[in-house]
Amino acid sequence: MLKILVADDSDTIRTMVSFKLKSCGYEVVTVEDGLEVINNVESINPDLIMLDVSMPNMNGFEVASRLRASPTTQNIPIIFLTAMADTEDVLKGLGFGAIDYITKPFKPEILVAKVCNHLNMIKSRKEITQTNEQLKQENKGLEEKAVTDGLTGLYNHNFIIERLSQEIARCNRYKANCLSIFMFDLDHFKAINDNYGHLVGDEVLVRVSAEIKRLLREVDILGRYGGEEFLVLLPDTSLENACVAAEKIRERVATLNWSAETLKVALSGGVCAFNGEDAIELIKKTDILLYLAKRNGRNRIEC
Ligand SMILES: [Mg+2]
Repeated sequence: MLKILVADDSDTIRTMVSFKLKSCGYEVVTVEDGLEVINNVESINPDLIMLDVSMPNMNGFEVASRLRASPTTQNIPIIFLTAMADTEDVLKGLGFGAIDYITKPFKPEILVAKVCNHLNMIKSRKEITQTNEQLKQENKGLEEKAVTDGLTGLYNHNFIIERLSQEIARCNRYKANCLSIFMFDLDHFKAINDNYGHLVGDEVLVRVSAEIKRLLREVDILGRYGGEEFLVLLPDTSLENACVAAEKIRERVATLNWSAETLKVALSGGVCAFNGEDAIELIKKTDILLYLAKRNGRNRIEC
């Protein structure tokens, strides 16, 4: 239901306008002076304000000027309802962006018809805004879902590869130290699932993801590449520095304490610097290093 705030120091006007608009199905709140409008407008949150000009404490023009100056109230439509009928006053009121300026005395039927027209317009505008807002939220949700891994909240397989291609495109060919990537895989993850159950397995994936995210810089990009396999993109990072970062991550994961005391989690990883390859080639090279790390005894990084 649309809400109208009526501000007028005349009891007769308040009662009459309020009665007429209520009978048209609108919610009406009345106040007796301008200061009351300013003090209560945010809590009332009206769809329209009908404003007298001559009122005690603060006149209607001052009220309009203050409403327009505040980001939370600047878009509330205003209709002036006043005995001040000089052209100068009317222009002043319209100058505040008022959608109408109605002079007293007025015919109640005409007032109601005018207000109804304005409110219909306000209502459809409000509905359009709400629909747009809803669509925006839905789109955002879908977009996020499309690029996110449901369990860890990291980027998913497709998106991390897309990001890698973007980073490579950014690097031009053979630009030194422009990008390194770090691929790692949790050691003996199948055994963790088998011995402790899949819930613990999931907990390991989630916690390791969060811990690694904390160790990375804002610019680094972390994605879940596959089941227990992850890919980290390190922009503007030399091979040497990427290896230091990867080693730090390996060490952190290997020293985590778990609620199941016997549980040990470790990772093996490969680190490669971009050297003109495309995304798939670069991943392949890094994958070979990752398997070398596995062969060389696990819980280690090969660069
Ligand atoms: Mg008055």
